[in-house]
Amino acid sequence: KFKAIILDEKAFFRAITRISHEIIEKNKGVESIVLVGIVSRGVPIANLIAEKINELENENVKVTSLNISLYRDDLTEIGDVPLVKSNEINFDITGKNIILVDDVIFTGRTVRAAMDAIIDVGRPKTIQLAVLVDRGHRELPIRADYVGKNVPTSRKEIIKVRVKGIDSLNEVSIYSV
Ligand code: 5GP
Ligand code: MG
Repeated sequence: KFKAIILDEKAFFRAITRISHEIIEKNKGVESIVLVGIVSRGVPIANLIAEKINELENENVKVTSLNISLYRDDLTEIGDVPLVKSNEINFDITGKNIILVDDVIFTGRTVRAAMDAIIDVGRPKTIQLAVLVDRGHRELPIRADYVGKNVPTSRKEIIKVRVKGIDSLNEVSIYSV
């Protein structure tokens, strides 16, 4: 059941713009940055951030993706385990500042799997995390460096993120289930 719009199109783009500025400032430029969008909606969000950074810095930031999906292990009853399905990082990441980008962070398990996948590939200088929404309920000691909006939720609520490229508009809203 629909509850409220959290970011309308204008607020959505303001969040993207602020995160882009923060990434540039924190990294003192963007020469060594690689944006890694987590499939699916992390990818168009990463592309929007890259576009904004490129516009601000007159650069051409690299964008790639990681596909991490939940795998239900029925035998051991350990619940849903995020597994890396495909890793598009096929270049040297040594010394790079990797910015993981996702739509929502919840327990932190997806980000943990993403960090494992990156560390398997090489030795980046840093791994940073940008999310459009932090909805709380972390189960691991993981936090985002760049947050579009903190939205304290109950477990019975879900955040609906819509991004152009996948959806017909850019909007974030909250629903109860
Ligand atoms: P986590 O692994 O942190 O528990 O969950 C984060 C992943 O699940 C993200 O890739 C995100 O897309 C998805 N996710 C978890 N909760 C929500 C939610 O309320 N709304 C949306 N849109 N995605 C969620
Ligand atoms: Mg996801």
